[in-house]
Amino acid sequence: MAKTVLITGASSGIGEETVKALLGVGHTVYAGARRVDRMKGLSGAGAHLMTLDVVTDDASITTAVQTILREAGRIDVLINNAGYGSYGALEDVPPEEARRQFDVNIFGLARLTRLVLPTMRTQRSGRIVNVSSIGGKFGEPFGSWYHATKFAVEGLSDSLHVELHPFGIDVVVIQPRSTHSEWSTIAHESLLKYSGNGPYREGASSHAKMMELGHQGSIPAAPSVVARTIVQAKRPKNPLCNGRIGPNHAFHSPRSF
Ligand code: NDP
Repeated sequence: MAKTVLITGASSGIGEETVKALLGVGHTVYAGARRVDRMKGLSGAGAHLMTLDVVTDDASITTAVQTILREAGRIDVLINNAGYGSYGALEDVPPEEARRQFDVNIFGLARLTRLVLPTMRTQRSGRIVNVSSIGGKFGEPFGSWYHATKFAVEGLSDSLHVELHPFGIDVVVIQPRSTHSEWSTIAHESLLKYSGNGPYREGASSHAKMMELGHQGSIPAAPSVVARTIVQAKRPKNPLCNGRIGPNHAFHSPRSF
């Protein structure tokens, strides 16, 4: 059955491919990002575009949700995909950059979730899909802030999963591994910017090289693989078990939305 879906971070990478995959199976898709110009192709394919800044523009997210409710009358699925990785030694990354990363990756996700929940509770159905990372399960040098945000996504999602079960609302966590997108350029450039010249420069430059290599050629997944996983994510057999999607994009439950 066709669903009404709101997805963030739709202007690039995993989000962009997920919009295409959702449209391909007949869902109604509201695609949000700050760079609306980058989503013209998606509009041509049938997506409804929304200017969305999950951090600095509360009005944009409130308007987005109100618009969907006015036009479609319901919201079945929220895909919290917007996120980025800003790397650097903890000592080097300015606190305001660390906060910004938390703002996008966790508070932005929570803000939007809070806005759709009243509708989903009234519908007594809905699905929140949170794009975490395999980095939500382990840490790495120079990634302390990014990994902290993704651990936070994991903890929030696990708690919410049980909290929302009585209302018929699913929470699904997606844990992509290295994937072709703009993510690695942002991560790699921020690492060199913050730690490329100070006391951590040696470790930082070799880690930056390793990150660069890890995001080249055939090592990363295609974003369409993650997109397919998001679209096909199923309800867990035991709904009180976490509906977690593993790093290899495996999933373990029988019903797609
Ligand atoms: P991209 O950088 O290609 O896409 C990130 C998206 O997030 C963009 O569409 C960007 O849109 C959006 N975004 C960033 N900041 C904001 C903001 N303040 N408000 C609204 N939207 C914002 O990376 P990916 O596609 O790879 O990333 C998608 C998700 O996947 C992220 O949560 C990332 O952490 C996660 N992930 C990625 C992995 C990878 O290797 N690529 C691995 C594991 C997880 P715009 O700038 O136009 O607003």
